[in-house]
Amino acid sequence: MALGDRHQKKDVEAALKRAEAVGLKVTRTGRGHRWGYLICCPCNDRYKVPCTPQNQEDEARDINRFTRRHTNCA
Ligand SMILES: [Zn+2]
Repeated sequence: MALGDRHQKKDVEAALKRAEAVGLKVTRTGRGHRWGYLICCPCNDRYKVPCTPQNQEDEARDINRFTRRHTNCA
């Protein structure tokens, strides 16, 4: 992830870092409410990351779940 592409919510940012660490791709779109995508390249599944999640802990948990599900793909 390039500099300046950090997520403003630290729990979400930490979850995205974990996702990157296992080989998932994090893409910043920066449009509207959407922060970007978390993408599993091998199976082309993607997870939408909002800029301002209702609850950052829940959001981080969902990202972690996606990461776990795709850890073996990457
Ligand atoms: Zn996958």
